[in-house]
Formats: sequence, structure tokens, C-alpha cells
Amino acid sequence: MPDKRTFHVWRGNAEGGDFESYDTEVDEGMVVPDVLLRVQAHQAGDLALRWNCKAGKCGSCSMEVNGKPALACMTRMNSLPEGDVTVQPLKTFPIMKDLVCDVSWNYEMNKRIPPFSPPPLPEDGRYRMMQEDVDRVQEFRKCIECFLCQDVCHVLREHARKDKFVGPRFMIRAASLDMHPLDQEDRIPAIKDEYGSGFCNITRCCTEVCPEHIGITDNGIIPLKERVVDRYYDPLAILMRKLFGGKKKAKDQPSAK
Ligand code: SF4
Ligand code: SF4
Repeated sequence: MPDKRTFHVWRGNAEGGDFESYDTEVDEGMVVPDVLLRVQAHQAGDLALRWNCKAGKCGSCSMEVNGKPALACMTRMNSLPEGDVTVQPLKTFPIMKDLVCDVSWNYEMNKRIPPFSPPPLPEDGRYRMMQEDVDRVQEFRKCIECFLCQDVCHVLREHARKDKFVGPRFMIRAASLDMHPLDQEDRIPAIKDEYGSGFCNITRCCTEVCPEHIGITDNGIIPLKERVVDRYYDPLAILMRKLFGGKKKAKDQPSAK
């Protein structure tokens, strides 16, 4: 027996809009985009929504379901409470149409992070890394760029400090590079001054919504903050650098094991 639900879907564009209600049937096993596509097919042919893989891997269908940022395709209808369902676009980014928003600011932030900078290949043509170093950065590389963490981060969402903080997604991209034992770039000054590490106050909201269960705060942002403190505020570390020189983490090619 199909379930009957009322979907309150935000409709509008950059100029404004409001929720419109659609009564629709919901079949067993449906996820939120299935229902929205049914609404689009039968009641609102011009409803705009973004989706692609429907397997939780492309990061396209990020939206706010019952007020909570979520991947719509990973939100099963039977996981939601009984009754009406509210669906709206991500709040942190400008609306284009209905459930589709403009996330291009994120791509601009990405461009500010210098790419991986390894040393020249050793004579034998092989880089070497410890497995634990591989594992540490691998976690961050699971990111599917759904931008749910960016949407929920209060620095961007409530305080609108896109001018000062690149957000959790790009803090973990910076972490994946800074923690890479072969990366030669000195990233700490930019992490502090350009990416705004000090703006994160470790609420962990980003970690809670990440569909890839990346330890954004504990494994990425907090270690970066510690590196900033070591560089700029630890008097002993500053004294040691003055005595023995060197501003940058030493990143020599690890010896063969
Ligand atoms: S832990 Fe930091 S980056 Fe994550 S949501 Fe909170 S303030 Fe934003
Ligand atoms: S870190 Fe997680 S929540 Fe943030 S963009 Fe990547 S996959 Fe999405």
C-alpha cells in the first residue's frame, strides 16, 4: 500500500519564493528524490532539483530535509517521521531556482589552495610513504564535495563570513595536503591568515552531517589549529626556530623502509 504524504517544497528564485504543498503517494523503498521526481512528473513540471548518481557518491542532491542538511538520495522516506515533509535548498548559498543553489563560491575557495607539491622523483623513480601517513590523508580524500558541511557551518551560515573562512570542506583539503609527507608547500601561513582557521570554534556540526563520516573537526581542523599554534604562538617552538633556524616543517623524502 502506498503511503500518502504532503511535501512542502520551497519554490522560487533569487528574487524570492515560498513553500508550495504537494500531496503525493510514496512507495515502499523510495528516497526523497524519488518523491520529488514524482511531483515533478505529475504536478510541477518546472520544479528544479539537482541529482545525478542517486547512490550517495556524486554530492549533487544536497538539500535541507525537514530543516536538516542531508543528501536527499540517502534519505529514505521510512527514515523520516510520519507526517508532512519539508524540503528546501541549502541555506548558505545563493538560490538559483527551487531546490538548486549556486555553490560556485566553493570552487573559488578550492582554487586558493596550492596543489600538491612533491619533491623531484628520487633516482629509483619511487616515492615512499609510511602506511599510517597514507591512511591519514586517505580519510580526507573520501570527500564527495556535497558541501553539507559548508551549509551547516555557522561561520558561513549564520555569520556569513565567507570573506574570512573557507569552511570545513576546504580546511580538510588543506589538511590532506599539509599532512601529506611528500608535500613541500608551507601551508601554515595561508591556513591561518587566508583560510581563517581561527574562525572555527570546533562545534563539530560539520562532522555530524558529513555523509562520508570524515572526522572533519577532530582529524582535520584541530590538528591544523595545533600546527598554527606551534608556528605562531608556542614560545618554546618560536625560540627553537630562532636558535636553530627553519620556519617550515621539514619534509624530506622519507628513507626507504
Ligand atoms: S567545527 Fe568549525 S568548521 Fe565545523 S561547523 Fe563548527 S565552526 Fe564550522
Ligand atoms: S567533508 Fe563531508 S560533508 Fe563536507 S563536502 Fe566533503 S563529503 Fe560533504
